[in-house]
Amino acid sequence: MAKLSDPVTILKGVGQVRAKQLAQLNIVTLGDLICHFPRGYEDRTRLVPIEKLEADRPACFRAMVMNTPRTSHIRKGLDLTKVQVADSTARLNLTFFNNRFAAEQLQYGKEYIFYGAPSGDFVGYSMTNPVFEAVDAQPVTTRRVLPIYPLTAGLTNAALLRLVRQALAVCDPPAEILPEPVRQKYGILPAQRAYFAIHEPNSMEEAELAKKRMIFEEFFVFSAGLSLMRAARAEKKTEPYHNFDMRPFYAALPFTLTGAQSRAVADILQDFRRGAPMNRLVQGDVGSGKTMVAAAAAYCAAGNHKQTALMAPTEILAEQHFASLSALFAPLGISVALLTGSMTAKQKKDTRERIAAGEVQVVVGTHALLTDATRFCDLGLVITDEQHRFGVGQRSKLTAKGDDPHLLVMSATPIPRTLALILYGDLDVSVLDELPPGRELVDTFLVGESYRPRINAFIRKHVEEGHQCFVVCPAVEENQELGVKAASVWAETLQQTVFPDLRIALLHGQMKGSEKEAAMAAFARGEADVMVATTVIEVGVDVPNATLMVIEDADRFGLSQLHQLRGRVGRGKAKSYCILTTHNRNPETVQRLKALCKTTDGFRIAEEDLRLRGPGDFFGSRQSGLPAFRVADFSCDLTTMKDAQQASANWIDAFGTSDTPEAAALRERIGELFTRTEGTMN
Ligand code: ADP
Ligand code: MG
Repeated sequence: MAKLSDPVTILKGVGQVRAKQLAQLNIVTLGDLICHFPRGYEDRTRLVPIEKLEADRPACFRAMVMNTPRTSHIRKGLDLTKVQVADSTARLNLTFFNNRFAAEQLQYGKEYIFYGAPSGDFVGYSMTNPVFEAVDAQPVTTRRVLPIYPLTAGLTNAALLRLVRQALAVCDPPAEILPEPVRQKYGILPAQRAYFAIHEPNSMEEAELAKKRMIFEEFFVFSAGLSLMRAARAEKKTEPYHNFDMRPFYAALPFTLTGAQSRAVADILQDFRRGAPMNRLVQGDVGSGKTMVAAAAAYCAAGNHKQTALMAPTEILAEQHFASLSALFAPLGISVALLTGSMTAKQKKDTRERIAAGEVQVVVGTHALLTDATRFCDLGLVITDEQHRFGVGQRSKLTAKGDDPHLLVMSATPIPRTLALILYGDLDVSVLDELPPGRELVDTFLVGESYRPRINAFIRKHVEEGHQCFVVCPAVEENQELGVKAASVWAETLQQTVFPDLRIALLHGQMKGSEKEAAMAAFARGEADVMVATTVIEVGVDVPNATLMVIEDADRFGLSQLHQLRGRVGRGKAKSYCILTTHNRNPETVQRLKALCKTTDGFRIAEEDLRLRGPGDFFGSRQSGLPAFRVADFSCDLTTMKDAQQASANWIDAFGTSDTPEAAALRERIGELFTRTEGTMN
């Protein structure tokens, strides 16, 4: 027997080329292959006589080849193969386009199983491009529920299916981690059966059950992991703070805090009194003023002679925080330092020395904070901004630099309460559900392609008034199949044909981290008029001069994501606009997008998104920064997630320290889930 950790290259037919293709899908080991789940299924179990075939409704049928297939060359690049088949009920003419395989395989007088649908115009007479297999072959593409896998160039669905089948034949699937009583209670398939059934279900019902098991399992592991972390932190003790005089801080603020900000600060101060480390998430829409909540916490920590580390995901975000916090704290006698990767070695060394000596109270930085060289004198508070960009492990790496410091994580992704409980089970949550007063709302419009000249004129108008624009595209490269606008191509088009006189910049996720930052920083300095970008601009960079955002093919995005993107404009004094374009006329899609034009409340939008699209969007790794769930592609239901969380909470309480094989396997899986995450963070 092979092991789950063995490389895929031990399988027959996996050489260097195949292995490379599989690696594209993050499949390196047999375990990865077995956990590469289908994203959907096609029911090909129905077997009918030819007479009973219905137009446009695919089915299997068993038929004999009635003549030798004839191939004619129509023109360059187009060959047609025609053949007639029959069963005892009727005859059927088949046509294959450019299918040498069919021409060679189908033999006069032999029987095959076909799968296809007669075309609507010639019911009962003809069918194009059916798939077929020999009657005695092990079914791969007919007579079964066919799993549909996420694929990559050069790797067909059938090839992947054969590899998975091979892997399952030589290697046991992952061990059972769900206790028997839990499986009983929630009607969950045993592991062994589920791993086979998810790839080779006997029916659509069985496929559903297998899917449910995988979703349940993954959230069970995840919730158990969070519970264990929470329990471990709950045992920790810290000295309660004694100085809660916040008056000088409030006096120094150029404004009064909103009610929501005050409540969040009160939550935090309460945590500081308790004598146990705080674990708090502050969730607030873009612009809700999270930075000031963080500042209040840092001020209180400084008043109690503790250092604060504020970690931001990008250099320019760190620089922006550094600028606003130093301005605020300097008059209060609190010294703030910046530590980022792009500083010179000497600058970094000097700053680190001042941090270690305790000369600096607040340190703002990027991942550079995490390196071993960074040592604190007395780190009391760790704050991560835009928490969805950091893995759970990076968080703990930073907290490990202090003696069980308080932890505050800030996220601009509004998540419905039900979901927040599941995804941030290890954290207490404060919500900023109120924007500072006087904020002008971003007017949002949904338009079709006929508005193109007006959109272009609108862009020009904004630029002529001295403002800047974002144009967001769903893809980087042109994707023919989806007909989706690609950033690089669109930037080129705008520059060449529409705005030859304007400065167009490009930003996308395939650029290097430093290139992205440089492009964004240049735009923030006003060195380009229009920034054509993919969703990488999501993270909280402030360009107050940007007053217009055009989102191309907006139907490609989730509502929450659109809302997130829209938050990039409307950060300055001038009136801002967001224009959503779409070719899609599906009434549901239009309704979904119109919801975004009507409201600017991120939490309401998130609720709507959850209702319309399910939880999938919220835990795709980009948005949540949570572990890369294998089931993330499943449009899974909230109930299964909730059940799994409940079951895991009960189980941890009752059996958390037990040493059954299941408990041991579970602990191992928790470790794997949280390790796997680190690699996928950006
Ligand atoms: P985010 O939650 O997106 O991180 P920020 O902390 O960047 O939001 O705040 C957005 C803007 O609102 C900043 O310019 C900040 O100075 C301002 N701001 C924050 N709190 C208030 C308030 N209570 N009243 C007025 N303006 C505020
Ligand atoms: Mg922010």
